[in-house]
Amino acid sequence: MICPILPDKYPCINSFKSGFMALLPILRYPDPRLHTKASVIANVDDDVRRLAADMAETMYAAPGIGLAATQVDRHLRLIVIDISEDKSRLLTLINPELLEKSGECEGEEGCLSVPGIYETVTRASHVRVRALGLDGKPFEMRADDLLAVCIQHEMDHLEGKVFVEYLSRLKRERIKSKLQKRARETL
Ligand SMILES: [Zn+2]
Repeated sequence: MICPILPDKYPCINSFKSGFMALLPILRYPDPRLHTKASVIANVDDDVRRLAADMAETMYAAPGIGLAATQVDRHLRLIVIDISEDKSRLLTLINPELLEKSGECEGEEGCLSVPGIYETVTRASHVRVRALGLDGKPFEMRADDLLAVCIQHEMDHLEGKVFVEYLSRLKRERIKSKLQKRARETL
């Protein structure tokens, strides 16, 4: 996810740093692979930790504040998020499940898979989520506002859903043709 508004603070759950990371290519809408439903991760092993580290590096380089494995064509239930200004609070959620959601907030969203497009989406303003951390241990967390929005945006990717699907058909078609035209021009 890309968002120009940064809040002051949010819960920091875990962080992971590795000396050997790689930038991964990000799928661009309307690539049909973005509509793949991601599989549950059975074992949090070194391959998963490596993928999470590479995804974080890719997100920071883009730059973005959230990235789902779906967007790098790895169809596993893994997302990375960092909404801090100084890239110091990496949140990795493995097999995230939404336990509760409440409230409503309307905000402009962008997506690394839909470059240059920002549209208003209405989402829950508070969520409670359960996930596994990079150590494979389950944890629960609450998130509000931008972090809550970002978690919902990234969890949608794992279901094969891109944020433009919340928009009207007409708007979505316009975005699709704009991005297809841009892709042709850069070939
Ligand atoms: Zn996105």
